[in-house]
Amino acid sequence: MSTIATSPDTLSTPDLESVRAEFPALLTEVHGKPVAYFDNAATAQKPQAVLDRMERYYRSENANVHRGVHTMSQLATDAYEGARETMASFLGAAETREIVFTRGTTEAVNLVAASFGKDFGPGDEIILSEMEHHSNIVPWQLLSQRTGVRLRIVPVTDDGELDIEEFRILLSDRTRLVALVHVSNSLGTINPVRQIIADAHGMSVPVLLDGAQATPHASVNVQDLDVDFYCLSSHKMFGPTGVGVLYGKAEHLEGMSPWQGGGDMIERVDFAGTTFNEIPHKFEAGTPHIAGVIGMAAAADYLENLGWDWIGQQEQDLLDYGTKLLSAIPGLRIVGTAPKKAAVISFLMGNAHPYDVGTVLDRMGIAVRTGHHCTQPLMKRYGIPGTVRASFAFYNTREEIDRLAEGLERAAGMLS
Ligand code: PMP
Repeated sequence: MSTIATSPDTLSTPDLESVRAEFPALLTEVHGKPVAYFDNAATAQKPQAVLDRMERYYRSENANVHRGVHTMSQLATDAYEGARETMASFLGAAETREIVFTRGTTEAVNLVAASFGKDFGPGDEIILSEMEHHSNIVPWQLLSQRTGVRLRIVPVTDDGELDIEEFRILLSDRTRLVALVHVSNSLGTINPVRQIIADAHGMSVPVLLDGAQATPHASVNVQDLDVDFYCLSSHKMFGPTGVGVLYGKAEHLEGMSPWQGGGDMIERVDFAGTTFNEIPHKFEAGTPHIAGVIGMAAAADYLENLGWDWIGQQEQDLLDYGTKLLSAIPGLRIVGTAPKKAAVISFLMGNAHPYDVGTVLDRMGIAVRTGHHCTQPLMKRYGIPGTVRASFAFYNTREEIDRLAEGLERAAGMLS
């Protein structure tokens, strides 16, 4: 993965069984069988370290953050602001004030659309692609309705890559922002974001990346990429739901106005006029998801301790093994065959509806996702209603993939 840096070698290689034992939910039985959890792109399971850290906050540190003089409030504030440092280091940000806590990727994109995009107007353009998640389409459509900014869409090739030539044609002096997905949740494609950013910056156009599916799989360094905005969701990277990060270069965040008003985001409030807090606090109105933020940082620490090299090798093995096994099943067609892919296999089984395939697999204790994966324009591009998607995490095993392949063969017999 040339666009995602790898971390330095870890000291010892983790042992898969011990790693699996750290995830209590992997012990869940579904229809009398241990779950084979292949729905990691929707949300990943949480290690004990994350659960323990959140419980510790609620058990012994629970207090509201900022401005409290009492000890527990200071403990909570230290943990919350410490988590900002952890996430800044996780993303390779230059400064902690470039890390804004949000509810997740969706809210991060909405924040940029509402604030950075508010002065866009008729004659301006934003470049998106055909493989975007709805959360990187609809906020821009809403902005377009408000301001008249025009959306230009980069097409996707048959094997699931961005048409870079077309991107270069669309990029012009009318472009105000390029907003693209780093790793596609439906296809697994890893986009050539370094090249895209270089091209966009060549025209002085800032770039936002939707990193929801990138940060669980490999190390991302925002300074190295020179990206302007980067969005992530904690729950996809083994942390709690309802929390995430918007990274923004300080020079952009400084110039942006707040998008939600309330406590914590102000400096002084007066009916004659209100002044706002500094970044990042001016974007964090109200009591934040304190336990979530602390849990997200614990997940980031967990991933770094595990080591990106091991995670990368494990997932590549699962992807190669799964692709080989599933491709050999008669009638199975993989959707998304780009050369650079994360560990996601989307497929169709003959004429069987994805929903029916998913239901049969569930009876066997195998959890996959079926449907459009919040990428309806992409499904339209391929002329399909949806896919069955198996998305792997480092804790999955070859044995689980064997179960998936056997289950699919049985499903093919039942549904043909
Ligand atoms: N972008 C991508 C590529 C995703 O996969 C998802 C989640 N499926 C999102 C954005 C939205 O993330 P969240 O619901 O956590 O805000």
